[in-house]
Amino acid sequence: LTQLFRPLDMLGWVYRTIRQGIIDMAAMFDLIDTPVEVSDKPGAPALVVKRPTITFDHVHFGYEPERTILHGLTFEVPAGSNVAIVGPSGAGKSTIARLLFRFYDPQKGRILVDGKDITTVTQESLRSHIGIVPQDSVLFNDTIGYNIAYGREGAEEEDIIAAARSAAILPFIERLPDGFETEVGERGLKLSGGEKQRVAIARTLVKDPPILLLDEATSALDSRTEQDILRTLKQVSAHRTTLAIAHRLSTIADADRILVLDHGRLAEIGTHSELLRYNGLYAEMWARQQAEEAAIE
Ligand code: ATP
Repeated sequence: LTQLFRPLDMLGWVYRTIRQGIIDMAAMFDLIDTPVEVSDKPGAPALVVKRPTITFDHVHFGYEPERTILHGLTFEVPAGSNVAIVGPSGAGKSTIARLLFRFYDPQKGRILVDGKDITTVTQESLRSHIGIVPQDSVLFNDTIGYNIAYGREGAEEEDIIAAARSAAILPFIERLPDGFETEVGERGLKLSGGEKQRVAIARTLVKDPPILLLDEATSALDSRTEQDILRTLKQVSAHRTTLAIAHRLSTIADADRILVLDHGRLAEIGTHSELLRYNGLYAEMWARQQAEEAAIE
């Protein structure tokens, strides 16, 4: 029966790729009930990316007209760099990611990828350039190999093995009696939070996107697993444009640039050490989190 369904699977690939992006995004940002707000312009071309720079140019946005969430936000994530967004709860961090993935369009201002306004290209092509590693990934009731291969149509066996190796889940898979054929999900083998996250990383690696959107809120993992995953993510994000939404500052201290968002405005911008010297909101958040972590230990 499974054999019968494979060709259908292939036909539905484009749909599923978009859906997977949405499922991952939903898992990442509670988007389950998000209405479809944007559509492609008639005849919109596909996005072609040579240098994956992300630019927010005076972006104003509110979910409701009477309540503005982002107030003319301007920043750039240079191609290949690693930028983190931090800030108090409700500051608008996830909103930035939702806009980049084009779940909504800004009311004013523009978002550009490689200099192209993302409202002028197809959503499918935009999303095909962005890999999402959510904290809590969704696995399909299928084999672990299928769950990784899902990242890209026509992924070859060696691509899947290479992705699993880079995501540091290959040794785990090789120890399973059925290897990549092991059924996972509801009816199959239950994976731990860390293993699930590695499958999500491998899936993203198979897709090989130039832009990565990370949710580094790895609080569901124990601290050793968290450190291991962070190390893997660091390798994976090297040479890609990476935007990380961070709740715990210790996970992004080595970012090339940290944007500190407060009430939908950029309050501070700099590296970890620059922001500590500045002694503002970031330094305050850092001191508070360090004290909390020391208390837990
Ligand atoms: P956290 O750190 O708690 O995840 P955040 O900085 O990611 O917060 P956002 O999720 O971007 O914050 O939310 C920014 C503001 O937008 C919040 O006040 C939130 O209540 C509001 N908001 C988020 N999603 C919606 C929505 N779908 N409809 C209306 N308001 C929303």
